[in-house]
Amino acid sequence: MKEISCKLLVIGAGPGGYVCAIRAGQLGVDTVIVEAGKPGGTCLNVGCIPSKALIHAAEEYEKIRQMAEGRSPLGISLHAPPSLDLAATIAWKDGIVGRLNAGVSGLLRKARVKIVQGCAAFRDGKTVEVQTETGMQVIRAEMVVIATGSKPVELPFLPFGGPVISSTEALSLTTLPKRLVVVGGGYIGLELGTAFAKLGSEVTVVEAAAQVLPQYDGELVRPVQKHLQQLGVRVLTGGKAKGLASGGDALIIETEDGKEHKLQADRILVTVGRKPNTDMAGLDGLDLDRSGPFLRVDDQCRTSMRGVFAIGDITGEPMLAHRAMAQGEMVAEIASGLKRGWDKRCIPAVCFTDPEILSAGLSPDEARRNGLEVRVGQFPFSANGRAMTMLAEDGFVRVVARADNNVVLGLQAVGAGVSELASAFALAIEMGARVEDIAATVHAHPTRGEALQEAALKTLGHALHI
Ligand code: FAD
Ligand code: NAD
Repeated sequence: MKEISCKLLVIGAGPGGYVCAIRAGQLGVDTVIVEAGKPGGTCLNVGCIPSKALIHAAEEYEKIRQMAEGRSPLGISLHAPPSLDLAATIAWKDGIVGRLNAGVSGLLRKARVKIVQGCAAFRDGKTVEVQTETGMQVIRAEMVVIATGSKPVELPFLPFGGPVISSTEALSLTTLPKRLVVVGGGYIGLELGTAFAKLGSEVTVVEAAAQVLPQYDGELVRPVQKHLQQLGVRVLTGGKAKGLASGGDALIIETEDGKEHKLQADRILVTVGRKPNTDMAGLDGLDLDRSGPFLRVDDQCRTSMRGVFAIGDITGEPMLAHRAMAQGEMVAEIASGLKRGWDKRCIPAVCFTDPEILSAGLSPDEARRNGLEVRVGQFPFSANGRAMTMLAEDGFVRVVARADNNVVLGLQAVGAGVSELASAFALAIEMGARVEDIAATVHAHPTRGEALQEAALKTLGHALHI
C-alpha cells in the first residue's frame, strides 16, 4: 500500500474539480486530484461538449435538408437529399472529447498537480483510499474538496437498460432511433430531443409540467415551442410516464385527463433531472450536513466539517459547469490563504434549444416576487438587420431594471445564437450597470448584439429602430 500526503486533495476532475486543482497548483499549493473516469467529468465527456457537438451536427444536417427539399429562402438548392452517417458524427464528437481530455490532463500537469486515477473512498475526513491499477493508494491531505458531480435521475418504474436510455447513451447512439420518446422536457430533453428531430427521428416529448422548460417564463419559451411544432416534435405537457409496455416497444403515459396512452418508441430517453453523487464510499461516515439531497455549503463552499469543501453539482442548483468552475477557482484561492467569498451577482444560464434561451439575473416576475418595482424593455430580433440576414428573426432581448434607479437586475433573450450574448449580459449585471450604461455603449453594426442596446433604449423610452 502506497501513501502520499498533500496540502489539497480534490476528488473528481469535472469542471469544478479540475479548475480547483489547476488554480491551486498555479498558486503553489501542493495538490493531488483523484478521478475515477476521464478528466473533464460529466461536462466534457457526456454533457456540455458532446451535446453541443451533436446539436451543431443536427443544425447543419437540417439546413442542408431544407435546401434539398426546396425550403430554403436563400436561393440555394440541392438535387439530392443529404445522408447521415451517425457513427461518423459520433466519432467526430469523440475526437473533440479526446482532445479536450488530453488538454485538461496537460493543464493539470503544467500546474504541477498530481493526478491519481481511480475511485476514491473516504477513510476519514482527511484521508482517502484509491484502488489504482498498480494497487491501493492512500492519500492524506490537510484540506479536501469533494467535487464528485451528479448523475441522471432514474425513474423506478422506468429503469435504464434496453430501450430506456439516459443522456449518456443518447450521446453515443450510432444508429438513429426511428421513434424517440423523451420523458422530461427540461434542458437535456429539449436540447437532445430537438437535435434528434433535426437528424430525422420522430420525436415525442412527455413533460409533467404545464409547459416545457418550466424553469423559464412563458414569453421566453414561446419561440422554442413554435419551432418544435415546425420540426414536427409532438409535445405532451401535463403527461406522466407510467412504465414500459410489456413488449418493450412503447411507453405508457397518463395524460392530464387521467387516461392512459401507449407511445410507440424505439428508444425512450429519460431526462427528468440529475442527482448528486453522494454515494461515494465513506461519505456517509463523515456526517456532513445536507441541503435536501445535496451537500450543504456556506459562501466559501465549506461543508460542516472543518477543512472539507464541496463544489459543483454535489452542492445543488444551478447544476451548471460554469458555476462549478467559479466555485473551484474560489476554493483554490481560499486553500492558498487568500480571502475569498461567493459574491457573484448572477450565474447566466443558456438552454441550447432552437432558438436558444439565455437568462442572467432576475426575470420580471422574479424581481416583482422579491418586492422590487421594475421597468422592463424588450426589443425583437425582427427589427434587427443582422438577424434578418441570418434568417434569425424569432425572439427578443429583454432588460429588467429597478424602476427607481435603472440598475439592471436581469437580462434575458431568446433567439438564434443568443448564447454568445451571455458574457455581455453577465458582465453588465456583475459590474452593476445601469440601463443608461448599456444604452450609451456603442454596439458594432450590424450585429445581433445591437438588440441589447435597443432593449436598453426601449427601457428608457426611446428605442431608435422600432
Ligand atoms: P462532474 O462534471 O459530474 O464531475 C465529477 C467527476 O467526479 C466525474 O468525472 C466523476 O467520474 C468523478 N468522481 C465521482 N465520484 C468519484 C470518486 N469517488 N472518486 C474519484 N472520482 C469521482 N452545464 C452547462 O453549464 N452548460 C451546458 O451546456 C451543459 N450541458 C449539459 C448536457 C448534458 C447532457 C448533461 C448531462 C449536463 C450538462 N451540463 C451543462 C451540466 C454540467 O455537465 C455539470 O453542471 C457539470 O459537469 C458539473 O461539474 P462537477 O465538476 O460538479 O461534476
Ligand atoms: P431539468 O430539471 O432541466 O428537466 C427535467 C424535466 O423533467 C422538468 O421539466 C420536469 O418537470 C420533468 N419531469 C420530472 N419528472 C417527470 C416525469 N415523471 N414525467 C415527465 N416529466 C417529468 O433536468 P435535465 O434536463 O435532466 O437536466 C439536468 C440538469 O443538467 C439541468 O437542471 C441543468 O442544471 C443541467 N443541464 C444544463 C444544460 C445547459 O446549461 N444548457 C444542458 C443540459 C443539462
